[in-house]
Amino acid sequence: MAANSGRLTVITGPSGVGKGTLVKQLLERHPNIWLSVSATTRAPREGEMEGQSYFFHSREQFDQLVKSGGLLEWAEFAGNSYGTPRQPVEEHLRYGSPVLLEIELEGARQVRRSFANGFQIFLAPPSFEELERRIRGRGTDAEEAIQRRLQRAELELQAKEEFDAVVMNDSLERALAELEELMGLA
Ligand code: ADP
Ligand code: 5GP
Repeated sequence: MAANSGRLTVITGPSGVGKGTLVKQLLERHPNIWLSVSATTRAPREGEMEGQSYFFHSREQFDQLVKSGGLLEWAEFAGNSYGTPRQPVEEHLRYGSPVLLEIELEGARQVRRSFANGFQIFLAPPSFEELERRIRGRGTDAEEAIQRRLQRAELELQAKEEFDAVVMNDSLERALAELEELMGLA
């Protein structure tokens, strides 16, 4: 990689653990970090904006992106596809920006294979019960989606040892400080 290339950090963790909340705060405090906007076939939730939360695609559009090699990684999650557009990540790394990907486990594994120098962080809940409380408390998912997310969470939690670091999201402030330290921002 070029001498001026930025660092790639991946944050993974079960749905509802607080990834979105923590990443938002991290970006507010460190506006130089560039967060990748993913492509997805999932329908927008209330308040989500095209190009900011996600690029919302039809199944056909998403398949075309995969076919043309436009995604750095992609995976199925709870009945939908999600993927990281390749070009903007490569450009930001080339310009030397710190790049952040907030993606699920299978995607993190793919990125690990192609960016051996990247840093991968797993965000863990204080307990499974608390995770369920947070998913339900968020109030954005139907019961079926909640059940799929909880099933998937069990699998993801078993994989946490694969990561360079595990951060427990007990208190937001404490977890944020730990993330900053791990990313060399503190
Ligand atoms: P994810 O992006 O991992 O799916 P969210 O950021 O949407 O998770 O958080 C899920 C819910 O948990 C939200 O309602 C959020 O306000 C809440 N939450 C996040 N972090 C904490 C925390 N440390 N303590 C209590 N609630 C939290
Ligand atoms: P949500 O539907 O809650 O926004 O996201 C569901 C899961 O998809 C989360 O675990 C999130 O990290 C993951 N995700 C979001 N974007 C991507 C992506 O580009 N690639 C992969 N592999 N996972 C993603």
